[in-house]
Amino acid sequence: MEKVLIITGSSRGIGAATACLAAEQGYAICVNYLRNQEAARSVVSSITQAGGRAIATAADIASEEDVVHLFQTVDEQLGKVTALVNNAGTLEQQTRVENIDAARLNRVFATNITGSFLCAREAIKRMSTKHGGAGGAIVNVSSVASRLGSPGEYVDYAASKGAIDTMTIGLAKEVADEGIRVNAVRPGFIYTDIHASGGEPNRVERVKESVPMKRGGHAIEVANAILWLLSAEASYTTGAFIDIAGGK
Ligand code: NAP
Repeated sequence: MEKVLIITGSSRGIGAATACLAAEQGYAICVNYLRNQEAARSVVSSITQAGGRAIATAADIASEEDVVHLFQTVDEQLGKVTALVNNAGTLEQQTRVENIDAARLNRVFATNITGSFLCAREAIKRMSTKHGGAGGAIVNVSSVASRLGSPGEYVDYAASKGAIDTMTIGLAKEVADEGIRVNAVRPGFIYTDIHASGGEPNRVERVKESVPMKRGGHAIEVANAILWLLSAEASYTTGAFIDIAGGK
């Protein structure tokens, strides 16, 4: 059976690194993105030029309609999904809780929490042995922010990752005897564009001295852990967390 992997938000950053590594390991990849079609196409072309199989599919994972369409597109173009990485995530301008309004909370939670739930739902419908599927694996991309709390920066984002941790624990147990493993990675400070969304593109340089290993992490270091959790080598691992944070 072909390994078919959907990675949400894989036009850039951790998702893009995961897509390229997974393609090397024989997965057919759906590179999902929100707006940056050029970046998504460039990930797809580097995969196909290396002999792999990939498609780029736009979908806002915060939209139920888009998520349903994303999975239908994969059914038609790549085949039944066997693995999902819930990677797409967002954060907004660094600030204190007293300045956060409901609209911002709804935006952050809609992508980070609702989006991950909706994608998990569509994956389970296709993977679960209860629904005639052949099983599969889900990896959620949480953050060490879920246990550090991100004070003064984005407690809303950190709380959304707390929800992802709890979802990982509950869902792992819910589908454990249906052939589906659900695990999470918790990256620390990784060099990607996400810090610019918080208003501080060079944030990793500022905070890296607080990391026991005294450096920021690279997207490929997160991708390696994600691919291990997806693989048969992790066949007895579910409901587990791997922190990739240099000891933070
Ligand atoms: P990034 O470089 O900012 O890339 C974000 C990716 O998500 C892009 O591909 C973007 O698509 C996509 N995206 C954003 N909102 C989306 C939506 N609503 N629907 C579909 N796609 C969406 O981010 P990153 O740093 O690689 O982060 C990836 C994950 O790791 C996130 O869940 C983040 O919270 C987590 N994480 C990151 C760090 C870190 O230090 N970087 C640390 C801990 C956890 P477009 O290109 O189209 O905009």
